[in-house]
Amino acid sequence: MSRKKILLSENDIPKAWYNIVADMTNKPLPPLNPVTKRPLNPEDLEGLFAKEIVKQEISQERWIEIPDEVRELYKIWRPTPLVRATGLEKALGTPAHIYFKNESVSPVGSHKLNSALPQAYYNKQQGIKRITTETGAGQWGAALSFACSLFGLDLLVYMVKVSYEQKPYRRMMMHTWGAEVIPSPSTTTEAGLQILAKDPETSGSLGIAISEAVEVAAKDPDARYTLGSVLNHVILHQTVIGLEAEKQMEIAEEFPDIVIGCFGGGSNFSGISFPFLRHRLTEGKAVRIIAAEPASCPKLTRGTFEYDFGDTAGLTPLLPMYTLGHDFHPADIHAGGLRYHGAGTIVSQLRKDSLVEVQDIPQLETFDAGVLFANTEGIIPAPESTHAIAVAIREAKQAKAEGRQKNILFCLSGHGLIDMTAYDQYYTKTMNNYQLTDEEIRRTTSVLEKLA
Ligand SMILES: *Cc1c(COP(=O)(O)O)cnc(C)c1O
Repeated sequence: MSRKKILLSENDIPKAWYNIVADMTNKPLPPLNPVTKRPLNPEDLEGLFAKEIVKQEISQERWIEIPDEVRELYKIWRPTPLVRATGLEKALGTPAHIYFKNESVSPVGSHKLNSALPQAYYNKQQGIKRITTETGAGQWGAALSFACSLFGLDLLVYMVKVSYEQKPYRRMMMHTWGAEVIPSPSTTTEAGLQILAKDPETSGSLGIAISEAVEVAAKDPDARYTLGSVLNHVILHQTVIGLEAEKQMEIAEEFPDIVIGCFGGGSNFSGISFPFLRHRLTEGKAVRIIAAEPASCPKLTRGTFEYDFGDTAGLTPLLPMYTLGHDFHPADIHAGGLRYHGAGTIVSQLRKDSLVEVQDIPQLETFDAGVLFANTEGIIPAPESTHAIAVAIREAKQAKAEGRQKNILFCLSGHGLIDMTAYDQYYTKTMNNYQLTDEEIRRTTSVLEKLA
């Protein structure tokens, strides 16, 4: 009889994170100093990030040890279950076996805590007193608030204004864990003031909130900045997801043919998929890796590969990535965690080398998928995670059409219990798909060629 869920014991929590850069033939291009246009010196970053984090950001080591204190804290909710979505399989009448790694069981409701804990830990180790960050839908801010509370660090969060207003519960969660939360753009920074002068009614964006958090950290020697996605060290920390899933698939005596993650900046996608992609890179094992991105913010599907800023004001280093341009303003879709213009340098290189595939999904299809999943597996998924579910469903239908058994694995990056307003708009049919024209994309990508 097949098993519904596969659980591991605390001893199975990985002892090291996996760094895929060690196994890439074409390494990611280096980030550039925006002023000199020369490859960045690691020391340039140490005013912004904790030293150990900078070391991880540029590391080429294959395995990086997880500190004991972080592993102890991972035990609060890790290892997470791997679940066979038998209910969903039945509803689809598919011969495919669908598995999902349930990251929604973390105390904050998403995978973000996997990186928030080590980031807070390394800052604390270095004697940093205060952390700044930005948050979109609030999941990263909530995760970091809890992590900072565990390590006794002060935290200042710039929260994208549209989410601050639409998702008051995550703001309240951050307050519960002791963080200060400011809606962005704000009048507390030069970057915020500049944006507000141009567009007083703006709903904000992740790129703007990053500019504000970076500016505050750069001015205070006791403060450092943290980011919840995109950068190499974040992706590294998230590989605990895929490393556990690898063990669990072994117990199920199956290897995935397809691994899927929704895609914002790439952290849960890389976390679930890189440990499996490793087998393709090192042993030639056949596995398809698919990123699921919103049709309204399609950087991997329709963006260009260029050097671009990670933020809107242009304060960060220039990163080589698939991007819609740092001035791109995504539509106010409910998957707030996927509203980001760029893709992270490792994933971008892998995409360029055709090692990862992409599918872009219209908003209504993602909620169709989310509601079907809720009714068959019980969990109400985060609007971000519904993108991965939608691709899993497409692939399971394809397997049915081909009459082939396939093993499909996706990451359930979070639950949607704090996003019910979004589901309500879906039920009342006040939700739409947002068409994005080529002209709009050209407007924000055409300026990039001159940057690097
Ligand atoms: C933040 C978030 C995402 C998107 O971020 P990635 O770094 O691309 O993983 C996806 N799902 C959930 C639940 C999130 O909180």
